Amino acid sequence: VIRMGQAEKSVTTTCAYCGVGCSFKAELKGNEVVRMVPHKDGKANLGHSCVKGRFAWGYATHPDRITTPMIRNTIDEPWRTVSWDEALNHAASEFRRIQAKHGRSAVGGITSSRCTNEETYLVQKLVRAAFGNNNVDTCARVCHSPTGYGLKQTLGESAGTQTFESVLQADVVMVIGANPTEGHPVFGSLLKRRIREGAKLIVIDPRDIELVKTPHVQADYHLKLMPGTNVAVANALAHVIVTEGLVDTTYVAERCEAASFRRWCEFVSRPENAPEATAALTGVPAETVRGAARLYATQGNAAIYYGLGVTEHSQGSTMVMAIANLAMATGNVGRMGVGVNPLRGQNNVQGSCDMGSFPHELPGYRHVSDATTRALFESAWGVTLDAEPGLRIPNMFEAALDGSFRGLYIEGEDIAQSDPNTQHVEAALRAMECVVVQDIFLNETAKFAHVFLPGASFLEKDGTFTNAERRISRVRKVMPPLAGMADWEVTMALSRALGYPMDYTHPSEIMDEIARLTPSFHGVSYDKLERLGSIQWPCNEAAPEGTPIMHVERFVRGQGRFMLTAYIPTDERASKRFPLLLTTGRILSQYNVGAQTRRTANIVWHAEDRLEIHPHDAEERGIQDGDWVGIASRAGETVLRATVTARVQPGVVYTTFHFPESGANVITTDNSDWATNCPEYKVTAVQVVAVSQP
Ligand code: SF4
Repeated sequence: VIRMGQAEKSVTTTCAYCGVGCSFKAELKGNEVVRMVPHKDGKANLGHSCVKGRFAWGYATHPDRITTPMIRNTIDEPWRTVSWDEALNHAASEFRRIQAKHGRSAVGGITSSRCTNEETYLVQKLVRAAFGNNNVDTCARVCHSPTGYGLKQTLGESAGTQTFESVLQADVVMVIGANPTEGHPVFGSLLKRRIREGAKLIVIDPRDIELVKTPHVQADYHLKLMPGTNVAVANALAHVIVTEGLVDTTYVAERCEAASFRRWCEFVSRPENAPEATAALTGVPAETVRGAARLYATQGNAAIYYGLGVTEHSQGSTMVMAIANLAMATGNVGRMGVGVNPLRGQNNVQGSCDMGSFPHELPGYRHVSDATTRALFESAWGVTLDAEPGLRIPNMFEAALDGSFRGLYIEGEDIAQSDPNTQHVEAALRAMECVVVQDIFLNETAKFAHVFLPGASFLEKDGTFTNAERRISRVRKVMPPLAGMADWEVTMALSRALGYPMDYTHPSEIMDEIARLTPSFHGVSYDKLERLGSIQWPCNEAAPEGTPIMHVERFVRGQGRFMLTAYIPTDERASKRFPLLLTTGRILSQYNVGAQTRRTANIVWHAEDRLEIHPHDAEERGIQDGDWVGIASRAGETVLRATVTARVQPGVVYTTFHFPESGANVITTDNSDWATNCPEYKVTAVQVVAVSQP
């Protein structure tokens, strides 16, 4: 229901969907939101918004909201509503019982990029200080963990280099494995504006995304590659740049490591990396690769924007490093109009990584094995910290199945729907003795939970989100929490029940602690956020008002490092049994697993996930547009309706994953990135057959 009416007051806050981080005024009548209006002074959106953000308030008061804590002894029993005290004490005593019986490391926590920075910081603090281990991870594990790894190795910082407005000074834009006009619509519009103004556009994607051809925008080159061959394409682009003498030698000599550059040049120059040698594998004609490489390297400011089509592969981290290599070799890092820019899927992916919610890193990307960093946090938190990295999300599942991991606290994340190989995830959850889910809805994961703690939507709390351009923006309480507590208060109460009290009276105090303990946040405070509107980190003594562009005079790591990026084929290859390659993506009106957008007015635009299949493959299987089809992989099978379209190439099928009943992640496998375990959602070998209606 879309409610319009005379607003009595408005509160400025930040959209809780994608990594653009648009600023909105939530207009209220009494305690009820009647409209979300994009804020004209919002630095990430400049007064614009998309169809998701406009209607984002709808889910907050949806009848499906659970506002009372619940417990049950086994997952086959019905839920029993209880008081906050009973639920929290039950969860705490179960976690302590498990630790007494199976050891300190038998429990852990998962936080979400939907949570605020302050909430994520508290979850990792609870795990490290109250549980006494490093078994904390975030849903960024399954999206941009390769960005964190790859950019740190090459440039020295796990973050994008630019501010969004920088694209307006680009002469060439290369979009790799991202669909900005659907996934990041406000940035997608800014990008289209720049292309209309005359900038050149290169798209690398296995599918005809909207940017490839619209009435006003057309890509100069579309490298329509086969899924799983990103690194081979990047190496072919690098081959052309090096062998045709297109390297910015002055920039490289001044700013990059000479030895790693020499090794990289020798590697990419090899004949097997030539576009002519890789064309049969990648499906991209050699002349297209050569033309795109020349355009990227020679036309002035060249910027790369990339998404999960880069990271969610068995070589996700390799591809991120290959992208950074291209940018350094052509002198395209360190000023407006250029850079390496990950488009983050969720509102606070950057922030959840910054806040130390990885099992190997404390806040500010400092390794847990570093004694100086540990001493800093030990002194502030009054505990002794574990020096060994903890379990990543996939390792938690494996440990649950072998019996060594028995208890899990999950805040704001629906792992049973969003993680790959659903059967494997469900088996791991079933094997645990205590699963505590803190969420606003009884999600798919809650089916396997023993304790349910009601969460609060972004409209019910104070805090901050950090968007894809490292911009920290305020989230402001628009209405009181429906369950009486915001998530940061619930985590605090659970920690107290575990015997490790935390006593913050407002999220600003949590941010003050983060700023004290994290060098890149030393200058951040709520007062400064009020004054400046938002701040791009690093914000500290050297940059008191923040840093729109990184690596300006030198790279954060000193000299830029070229990494070797050998192409290693994924195990998910087309075979006689599974002859097609499935890749996945999103659609404009829905957001991720759809828990929020399916409960807003957005549902009218897109009410099911469909399988896109090329006319040639459809005809071979007797499939017509709109028919039901069965899809099987080595992980599982599901049924969807087909859309017959040449947007995908022969041999490739595509679907979205916004609806739990579509079971997209029943099919995806647990193949993952070699460095970070980010799942390979983007390539699954499948068979598709016509079926009668399920
Ligand atoms: Fe902005 Fe993204 Fe929200 Fe749309 S979904 S309003 S682009 S933050």
